[in-house]
Amino acid sequence: MKDRTLLMIPGPIEFEPAVLAALGGPTTSHLDPAFIETFGQALERMREVFGCPDGQPFILAGSGTLAMDMAGANLTEPGDRVLVVNTGYFSDRFAALLERYGAEITQVRAPVGGRPSLDEVEEKLKSNRFKFMTVTHVDTSTGVITDVQGLAALARRYETLIVVDGVCSVAGEELRMSDWGVDVALTASQKAIGVPPGLALLVAGPRAMAAFRRRTSPVRNFYADWTHWLPIMESCEARKPSYFGTPPVNLIWALNVSLGQILAEGMEARVARHRALGRACQQGIRALGLGQVPLQPEFAAHTMTAPRYPSGVNGAELLARIREAGVVLAGGLHPAIRTEYFRIGHMGAARLGDVLATIGAIETGLAACGYQFERGVGVAAAAAHYEN
Ligand code: PMP
Repeated sequence: MKDRTLLMIPGPIEFEPAVLAALGGPTTSHLDPAFIETFGQALERMREVFGCPDGQPFILAGSGTLAMDMAGANLTEPGDRVLVVNTGYFSDRFAALLERYGAEITQVRAPVGGRPSLDEVEEKLKSNRFKFMTVTHVDTSTGVITDVQGLAALARRYETLIVVDGVCSVAGEELRMSDWGVDVALTASQKAIGVPPGLALLVAGPRAMAAFRRRTSPVRNFYADWTHWLPIMESCEARKPSYFGTPPVNLIWALNVSLGQILAEGMEARVARHRALGRACQQGIRALGLGQVPLQPEFAAHTMTAPRYPSGVNGAELLARIREAGVVLAGGLHPAIRTEYFRIGHMGAARLGDVLATIGAIETGLAACGYQFERGVGVAAAAAHYEN
């Protein structure tokens, strides 16, 4: 039997062979003209993927948390008021990070699996002036998607910047930075962007860059300071070598391959494919009689699914049985419900066949755990809902 599993967690994901091949190629000098060409092209492609033709892209070695840190460090000066739209674990992380930079934080929260309504957010925006607000597009701890378009419209009305943590959304969920009025969107390589972990990716729109330029105090994070990185990104786009810190050469070769694949698929087609994958997986889970963490179907993301364990089934045992059937899934993450649910990622290179294999492995696991259900109904529902 092949020692092979299907990795269906919400990042890292399964990667395209051409992306992995680029990663395994020779490491050039970071000043090599061919590498600078690749870096420059990757920056240009990021603008397209993020829907921000006049934005400033940044590519740094680091994980998604560094991308959050970069946004927080460069936009916050001590005493700045920031509104955190909180939908779970990663929104909490943003609040904790911003506090380090001296932000005065107001949070608008929802119960686990919910999301603050636009009215609740507007109440806060009316009550005070905020320099910026943060929103987690898809909180990977709950599988809840926020209404970024609606929130960005509020941000524009109340003249606050809006920073979107798109780590579990960019290149999977619809996100049109310029059209919607989003000022910063950030992600990491290992999710729907489709590159192994190690890149922090961010696009800052003109209002965010203007706010950065208006700073009167130095950025309180040496590595993430745009003062160092902006000239590097600009010179790469001008196809001129420059240096601040050594870039992760192979990861950037791989990123450019993946961004090329994403744009070849087309953003609309890609978003539609993720919608179909989300629908298939969630309908498959529902047909098996399992609940889900998002409190309403329209709160559910398309890049991931967060099913609840059925009563009487031991979560750790179920995940072990699913793994024996060849599919790797993730356990719970939100501290309030950690042992009550598990998480499935379906983004990037994922196809219907991967979702069907996953639902099939879940059926196998549930049966092994003694759960009573009609075998095959989950797979059938997933397949039936992919197309409509
Ligand atoms: N935000 C969200 C929504 C995430 O899902 C994650 C990672 N799961 C992060 C931030 C942090 O990214 P990283 O683990 O790459 O630091």
